[in-house]
Order: sequence, then structure tokens, then C-alpha cells
Amino acid sequence: MATQETVDHKYVYDFAEGNRDLKDLLGGKGANLAEMTNLGLPVPPGFIISTEACKAYLATGEEPAGLAGQIEAHLESLERGMGRRLGDPDDPLLVSVRSGAKFSMPGMMETVLNVGLNDRSVVGLAARAGGNERFAWDSYRRLIQMFGKTVCEVPGEEFEHALDEAKRARGTTDDLDLDADDLHGLVDAYKKIFLKHTGRDFPQSPREQLDLAIRAVFESWNAERAVLYRRQERIPADLGTAVNVVAMVFGNLGPDSGTGVAFTRDPASGAQGIYGDYLANAQGEDVVAGIRNTVPLQELESIDKRSYDELLVIMARLEGHYRDLCDIEFTIERGKLWMLQTRVGKRTAAAAFVIAGQLVDEGLIDLDEALHRVNGAQLAQLMFPRFQLDHGFEPVAKGVGASPGAASGKVVFTSARAVELAGEGEAVILVRRETNPDDLNGMIAARGILTSRGGKTSHAAVVARGMGKTCVSGADEIDVNVPARRLTVAGQSVSEGDVISIDGTTGKVYLGEVPVMPSEVVRYFEGTLDPAEADDALVKAVHRIMTHADAARRLAVRANADTGADAARARRFGAQGIGLCRTEHMFLGDRRELVERLILARTDTERSDALAALLPLQRDDFVAIFREMDGLPVTVRLIDPPLHEFLPPLEQLAVDVAVAQERGEDVAKEEALLAAVRRMHEENPMLGLRGVRLGLVIPGLFAMQVRAIAEAAVRVTREGGSACPEIMVPLVGAVQELETVRAEAEKIIAEVVGDSGVEVLIGTMIEVPRAALTAGQIAEAAEFFSFGTNDLTQMGWGFSRDDVEGAFFWRYLELGIFGISPFESIDRDGVGRLVRIAAEEGRAARPGLKLGVCGEHGGDPESVHFFHSVGLDYVSCSPFRVPVARLEAGRAAVETAGSDSR
Ligand code: ADP
Ligand code: MG
Ligand code: MG
Repeated sequence: MATQETVDHKYVYDFAEGNRDLKDLLGGKGANLAEMTNLGLPVPPGFIISTEACKAYLATGEEPAGLAGQIEAHLESLERGMGRRLGDPDDPLLVSVRSGAKFSMPGMMETVLNVGLNDRSVVGLAARAGGNERFAWDSYRRLIQMFGKTVCEVPGEEFEHALDEAKRARGTTDDLDLDADDLHGLVDAYKKIFLKHTGRDFPQSPREQLDLAIRAVFESWNAERAVLYRRQERIPADLGTAVNVVAMVFGNLGPDSGTGVAFTRDPASGAQGIYGDYLANAQGEDVVAGIRNTVPLQELESIDKRSYDELLVIMARLEGHYRDLCDIEFTIERGKLWMLQTRVGKRTAAAAFVIAGQLVDEGLIDLDEALHRVNGAQLAQLMFPRFQLDHGFEPVAKGVGASPGAASGKVVFTSARAVELAGEGEAVILVRRETNPDDLNGMIAARGILTSRGGKTSHAAVVARGMGKTCVSGADEIDVNVPARRLTVAGQSVSEGDVISIDGTTGKVYLGEVPVMPSEVVRYFEGTLDPAEADDALVKAVHRIMTHADAARRLAVRANADTGADAARARRFGAQGIGLCRTEHMFLGDRRELVERLILARTDTERSDALAALLPLQRDDFVAIFREMDGLPVTVRLIDPPLHEFLPPLEQLAVDVAVAQERGEDVAKEEALLAAVRRMHEENPMLGLRGVRLGLVIPGLFAMQVRAIAEAAVRVTREGGSACPEIMVPLVGAVQELETVRAEAEKIIAEVVGDSGVEVLIGTMIEVPRAALTAGQIAEAAEFFSFGTNDLTQMGWGFSRDDVEGAFFWRYLELGIFGISPFESIDRDGVGRLVRIAAEEGRAARPGLKLGVCGEHGGDPESVHFFHSVGLDYVSCSPFRVPVARLEAGRAAVETAGSDSR
């Protein structure tokens, strides 16, 4: 038996055996409890059941062999150390059973406090607490409540109703007014509720309580809301949670006890200082649940100076140790401070930049590390618009600016309604008294979240910050009446569907739709705000970090821009060229008429007349772009979409013709168009006559475009500018296609360019899998490749993007076939592999081959890192994403180890 146990896999670890780098195994909470223990901080003793045990349990539905014995052994040693036994009737050891995954998932999983209490040990606990019976019964009723809810799925409202009932009977709204007898009575009421819903009595065996609670924590990994949260936050589904079993300390022993949360800096702005909330005579989640009003942490100084001072010392120590903002949960038991949790704290996007800058100033980190501490998603958030300064609206309420941004929308009061209205395309603001994990769907669907209770550390605030969603919490002037679907504020009544606006930075709430303006960060990027003059820590920090990113990165960043105006904007945002200039818009608007003539041409002369008329128009378009991009490369893609896209839709045309015929009008032209539309109809237009195929089939079409490009370049150069055109042929699958187009283009270019000194490169998109796989051959005829990852994904997976995203991607995400749409972030294993092969084989055939990517992936942070690793020369993305790509390209270049700010 004993030998059996020694070969068992190790599933349970003492705090002293862990450290902060073991988050995969011990979860974030456990790893950091271990770290604090090893730093010598006052952490109540305990042990950690590893994520491996959880994974084994979830895979089989049973605790893995050896786990029970290891728990027993660690529990015994905990009992020895504490000098108490779990649930001992005379002097019970109580423990908490706490979830804790690798990545923090606030409020998503379960924690049960006071495990070990039963009808007998509750008496022992009171005796040990100097006859404090109120405390003992309060602890017991909390156990039944938490255990019932999380372990046995008893509806939480039932307990809340019973608690409200007890308070009403006492004529109070404050749970502190309940005395020992009231709480004893409440325990009896809770037990009845428990029996009614579970068909059994509340378990009296402490060890059974412990085992069931551990099991419930394991299972909470797969609770619906946790699954949803992970999907939203892109946390892998297979990590599992660890379980922390921690000796209880008590914040509910009286006025000299209490519990609190704190940040080492303001998680919303990054400002240094002491931020937190404290609640005297309370346990656990009372602070975040908004049950009673907390006091600002500063007030602890006058309540318990010794603990306060010790806490400040510990906070400074933790910041220095983690070299980052930490958040902390602590409890004071009769004047003795206990640390119950710490982690590198979540923060707003603005705070991430400001804090990174400050830490550099303080010499705690260097600029490479600072770059690592921020990310493109945060930068993107900072580029969101905010409310105009002089909008003239008066706020009707002010809460806590819990998660920044500006949001307007229709008021909704339930998660379900938020989902419903958002599904109809409405912007909604979810208004709740306070949110709980069941509101997650509604929070995802809403533009913004407004609560009337809770502070910066409430559920709404924490989750909204994590999602990057605008949130105002604790706007307590607002009276929220969910059943009536109405709120009242400042004497006014606002019903579901009325529009309100919330400012997640200032915490202000407005009735009606407040106009928005561009963010300061955007003004900085656009050059209308000088960072040296900006009286704004944020703009200065962004400037400093962006400057470092630009110096560090190897990838160039270009923009996708089709007009002179787009090009100018892209350049202001730091684009180093245009990676994709689409020419299809040059066939739209008042040019449709010419395009119709081109398509309907029956003779060579008719066709070349139409092309000749298009030529000067296109040339002017290119001139405008080359002027803006003076000196920078501009990749122009020859016409790509099927030509019938430029004709009216079949149904409409058929009706028009029929109506006109009825009236006896002359319909010769319409009939010809209709015939052409019928003739050109394709079952799969994405796989039909488009891209290079058009150039090979329609004489003169590509030639006209090449000529327009070359002539525009010559004109801009003659004006004294510098044009660097790169002609890009779309949809090539075989080198022969490219060779044919190239031969014709080279002739025209030579003729137009003459001795002007203009140089025109010719290259191709790599967007058909066959092109990627024959890149070595294609490179012989191409001076550059630009990966069209949208089509490459579409054709690589055989997905028609427009059809599949709405139709079944949810199912694929649910099944974990992919963690994120491959159109959003590049599929490294499949589509990415095609990119890698083409890059390698292309460069092998033609050293110096320029490699870039156009298509949405160029602005996606994860994808940028991949393109860096494959060795591309540049990424190209929409102008607004250019700063994000610059930042991520810098981060990819300095990739350093060790940060876990997520
Ligand atoms: P979460 O992951 O939701 O933050 P925790 O496991 O941190 O859940 O537990 C929530 C709260 O319960 C803690 O902040 C703390 O106040 C209280 N708590 C947990 N364990 C103990 C303990 N051993 N003694 C006293 N309070 C505890
Ligand atoms: Mg919790
Ligand atoms: Mg916690």
C-alpha cells in the first residue's frame, strides 16, 4: 500500500513548495500565495491541489488515484501546524476552498469559506472566539449559503430572501444588526432551504464538506459562464483550475477585524497612491459584492494604524518584487493582518501605458520590458473616441469611472434584453444595481455597463476592464428598478429603450446621446497634439513607448489605402508606404457607365474606346496617391473582383426591363446588359473569372491600368516628387499567368517611363494555395510577394467568409476547432504554414525578394508576431490599425520573458 502511494503522481503542494512561476501547475492564486509565503509575508498556511488533478478529474469524472491520500496527508500536516483539527467540535480548524486558474477569471469560479463548521463545531468556534456566538453563527450561515449555492446548485436568491426576511424581522437593512439568535435562526432557515433543494441534510462531516467543495471547484472550470469568459478573453479551454485549501482567518470577529482589497496604483489611471476599499467586521466577498458600503482604504489608518502601516510596507515590497502594479486581498483578524491573495493587477489600457512609463522612470524595468507590458489591443482601446469637451450636457449622476471610453445607447435592464437588442443591431447600455457572473452575456453584448452599486473593484468594474468595455459603477444616485424596467435619477424616469450616455473615465452619466470626439492618443498620432506640450501622462507614455517600438522593430508597417485622402491619413499614423491600393473603386460611381461600355463591347474598337476613356481618370487617382506618399512605396493591385460586380443585380435588371417593355420604351441597352449579366453569372464568383484571369481574358484591361500607373509615376516625378509604384497581380496560381502579364506590362512601362528615372516593380499576391506551394517558380517572375491572407484563409480552409462567419463559426468556436476565427487571427498551423513555405521557397529562388502581407491580419496583434517570426519585410493594414501594428512589431522584436499582465 505504502509503495503504491510513493509512485503516485504528485498532485498536492504545500505553499512552501511553490512559487510564482508555477502558474500552469498551481494556478495564479496558488503560485502567488506560495510566492508570498516564501517572501515571509503573513499568509495563512495551506496547500494547493494542482491543475493536473483538475484535468484528470474532468477527463474521467473521478478524482485521480492517490489524490485523496495526498489531501489527507497535507491536511494532517496543516492541522499539526495549526494545532487544531478540521471541524473539531471543541476548537475547529476551518478552511477555505478556493479556485485559482492560470489566468485570473474574476468571479467566474467558486470559493467556499468556513469549511469544517457543523452543528457541533459552531459551538466550539464561538467558545474559541471568546464566546462570540454571533460570529460563529454568522460564519456557519455563510458556509451553508456558499456551499449550497456552489456545491449543490441551490438557487442563491433563496438564501438572500431568507437573509432579507431576517433583517426585516429585526427592522434593519444592515446585516450587522442581526444578533446571534437571529443568525442561529437563519442557519435553521438555510438548512431547510438546503434540504428542500437537495433532498438531503446539510453534510455534517467536515471531510465530506471538503471533498465536495474541491470537486465543485474542479467542476466550476466548465461552468457556462467560465466557458464564455474564456472564449471572450481567449483563454485556452484545457488549462483547468487549481484548488487552494487555506486555513481560515476571520474578518468578521468584530470591529477590530475586517477585510479589504487594494491596488498598489490606480488601475484606471496608473497614478501612484493607495487605492482600495475596506470593510470592518466582514468576511470574504462582502467587499466586492457591494452588500455594505466600504470605506476608502486610507481610513484604515485611523481604524487600525498598525495593520495599515504594515499593509503599506507589504504593498511596496510586492510592487518592487513583481516590478508591476499588484492587486491584493487581505483580512485583519483582531488587529492581525493576513494576506489572502496578490497578483499582477488588471488595469485599464491607459494605466498600462502610464505605469510602464513610471516603472521605467523608477528604474524597475527597462524600455524593452515596458514595451512588453503594453499591447496592441490596449492601444486600440485608447484610440476609441471620447465625449466632446463642450457638449453642453449636464450629468444626471456620477459614479466611479470603472473602465474608460464613451458609450451611448438604449437602456436595458437585463442581460437577456441586452443580447436581444444588440442582436438587432442596437447599441445598448446594460444598467444593473450590480452585476454578477450571470450577466456576462449581456455585458458582452452591451456598448457600456452602468451600475448603481459597487466601486472600482466590483464585479462589473473588473469584468468590464478585462473586456475593454466602458463601465461606470456605483452611480448611487440612480435608483434601478429591474422588474419595472425603469430607472429614476435626478427626479427623472428613464425607461427601457431611452438613450443614455456614460463616460467610463469620469464616471458621469448623461441622458440622451452625447456627441463624441477623437481620443487624445489619436490626436497625438495625427500630429495635432505635441507630446512635449501635452499635459497628459498618457500621451507622453504612449509617445515614449511608440518611439522605442519604432526603433526596435524589424517589420515595416504599411497601410491599405485607396485614395489620396486615405493615404494622407495613413502617413500621419506612421505608415511607411501603401501595401494595398485597391483599384476597384476606380470603376465605380460616375465611371460605371464606362465600365458598362467596356463589358458590353462587341468589337475591339468599342472596348479600346472605353478603356481609353478610363485611362486618364485612373491616372489622376494614382497621381493623388503618389503625391501623398512621396518617396514611399505604393503597391497597386490590378483589378481583382469579377466584372459582373460592376453591373446591376440580375433580379433588378430583369424587373426594369420587363416594366420598360410593358410601357413600350426602347430597352435595347437594358436588354444587352441583362444578357451580359446572364452570360457572366457564376455559381462561385470568388473562384471564378477574377484577378489575373481578367487580365488574361480581357484584352487591354491590365495594360490600361499599368499605363495609368506608369504615367502617373512619371508625372509626379517630373513635378519634382518621387513615386515608387509596385504593381501587384492578384490571384496568381501559376508562374505562367504572371509571366504573361509581366511581359505585356514590362513593354508598356519601358515605353512610358523612358529616361524619367521612375522604377516600377512587378510582383504578385500569394493568395491561392497553389501559389504558395509553387512560390519558388513564381518568384522567378516576381520582385515581391504580398500575402493576401484573407483569400489564402478562404481557399486554404475552403470557407466562403461571408457565408460561414455568421452561419457556423460559433459552433466551431464552441467545439474548440479554433479558438478564434481564422479570419481574425492567422491560423498558424495551416494558412501560416503556407505563408512560411512561400516565404522560404520564394527567397531561396530570389534572394532579396520583398515580402509583405496585406489583408486584415496585418493589423492583428497575434498575427503580427507570426509575420515577424516568418521574416516578412512588412505588414499592411487599415490606417487606423497602423499604430497597433507598429507597437506589436516592436514587441515582437524585443520579445522578453516573464511578464504576465494579461
Ligand atoms: P476570488 O477568486 O473570487 O477572488 P477567493 O478565493 O480569493 O475568490 O476568495 C474570495 C475572498 O474570500 C477573499 O478575498 C477573502 O476575502 C476570502 N477568503 C478566502 N480564503 C480565506 C481564508 N482562508 N481566510 C479568510 N478569508 C478568506
Ligand atoms: Mg469569488
Ligand atoms: Mg480573490
